[in-house]
Amino acid sequence: MSSIDQRIAQWIRPEIRALSAYHVPDAAGLIKLDAMENPYTWPDDLIRDWLDALAAVPLNRYPDPGAAALRQRLGTAFGIPDGMGLLLGNGSDELIQMLAMAVAEPGRTIMAPEPGFVMYRMIATFVGMEYIGVPLRAADFSLDREAMLQAIARHQPAIVFLAYPNNPTGNQFAQDDVHAVIEAAPGLVVVDEAYAAFADHSFLDELHRYDNLLVMRTVSKMGLAGLRLGLLAGAQPWIEQLDKIRLPYNINVLTQASAEFALRHKAVLDRQTAAVRRDREPLQQALQRLDGVQPFPSQANFILFRTPPGTADRLFAQLRADGVLIKNLNGSGGLLADCLRVTVGRPDENDAFLAALGRALAQL
Ligand code: PMP
Repeated sequence: MSSIDQRIAQWIRPEIRALSAYHVPDAAGLIKLDAMENPYTWPDDLIRDWLDALAAVPLNRYPDPGAAALRQRLGTAFGIPDGMGLLLGNGSDELIQMLAMAVAEPGRTIMAPEPGFVMYRMIATFVGMEYIGVPLRAADFSLDREAMLQAIARHQPAIVFLAYPNNPTGNQFAQDDVHAVIEAAPGLVVVDEAYAAFADHSFLDELHRYDNLLVMRTVSKMGLAGLRLGLLAGAQPWIEQLDKIRLPYNINVLTQASAEFALRHKAVLDRQTAAVRRDREPLQQALQRLDGVQPFPSQANFILFRTPPGTADRLFAQLRADGVLIKNLNGSGGLLADCLRVTVGRPDENDAFLAALGRALAQL
């Protein structure tokens, strides 16, 4: 072993050494339907106005540490109930990290249904906590209420994360099941509504009802993934505690100015997300018509689908060779065996994906 390897073995925690870094595939030259981004850009005149707004931003100064103006605008734009606090993160990923850091202690657990968003598990590991994944029902990825309640009673999790709609399955859990989890949980329940722009129901209005509920949102999926901005809403006393963990100036000046600008023009983003929502249905139906393909219902801007047994890796590779990048979940194992996930793109991108998938299936 070289001396650097020895030092790594001595000092980097074993659970970190065992991890693989979050892998983001190179999408250069490909139709990019892998990461739940909004496929639309802005009209030219809006881009010019945005650049004018940015030109006035003093880059030599630190940002407003509390991002007060932006928080005000986000509160209104997202309909955060009156009296609730709001914490901003460098993406909702950073909020998950702040939450975990605030509760981390040896022996404590973070819990989420599985399959679910991978960062809950990864961040629990980063902060030295145990992660408990509770399987969803195999048939339809619904929440297994009994299994969740048993796991909560047994592990007494510090935080339960419920992605609503869930990634990568796309469904929203039954509201009654979510209520049962919130009522049974001894600690915090974070309802992660990253895909709210594409869904019918939100738990924001229930913040007043439960003292252990927080609701997380992000601007990423509604068209601003490049800004890295997430928000966590909940009772002020919780937000005050979590705010102590936040690094100063975590939301940079360009993000603050750009997000404020974008929210002043939110109608443009709303039209884009409405188009994605509309285009989700024909894509779903077209997948349904393909022999051997089983798409799952989605309330998000992506569709999970199961492919004929043992073919997912080949189909994924064939699609990429044909210029279309989606997400291969087959390697994640468990309930995701044979599953692929496609983000809803522009109609021309969805058509190109369907044509490429049809060709790939025909070649099996
Ligand atoms: N929560 C869920 C359920 C997600 O799927 C994602 C992104 N894939 C995130 C949070 C992270 O979003 P952000 O870009 O705000 O960090």
